[in-house]
Amino acid sequence: MSAPITDFSSYLRDVPDFPKPGITFKDITPLLNQAEVFTAAIDQIAEQVRHLRPTHFAAIESRGFLFGGGLCERLGAGFVPLRKPGKLPWKTYSESYQLEYGQDSLEIHVDAAAPGDRVVIIDDLLATGGTAAAAVNLVRRTGAEVVAAAFVVELDFLDGRSKLHGFEIHSLVRVSD
Ligand code: AMP
Repeated sequence: MSAPITDFSSYLRDVPDFPKPGITFKDITPLLNQAEVFTAAIDQIAEQVRHLRPTHFAAIESRGFLFGGGLCERLGAGFVPLRKPGKLPWKTYSESYQLEYGQDSLEIHVDAAAPGDRVVIIDDLLATGGTAAAAVNLVRRTGAEVVAAAFVVELDFLDGRSKLHGFEIHSLVRVSD
């Protein structure tokens, strides 16, 4: 059996000036593309939050979905989709948040979680934290508790953590510059 993967950074690809000039996009497709790496990433996130006994993973569209399903399967939790406006078919709560230029929104089904539920937010990447903070607000509006937020990559220099309070924050790779 090969040694467990402890450093996922070599499976991320920096794409300069994508989707616009000045942004270095952290492409996770190399990590997704290799079965043992993808599995190890989901396994490690699962172990980081297992002790919190999550009842649900609330995954942010769209790259959060890639990890949410596997995490639910490993920890016996339910899946909560957090989607872009107009995608969810039932009654929703909506939260807007600030992007670098302009605004965006996320939605949750009003009955996707409830008081007593222990929810972990999952996304591929934490940058400024606006998206994750909106996700936290949505989950809390259902009455559920947010017990953690977990990411594959965290851009430390944007300090997204400072927007997230009251629960554990985990990331597999922290990028310092
Ligand atoms: P933020 O709201 O600034 O924390 O941005 C986080 C969201 O935008 C996540 O859903 C990411 O998928 C995406 N994102 C932001 N910056 C990047 C980046 N440099 N590389 C890849 N995805 C990013």
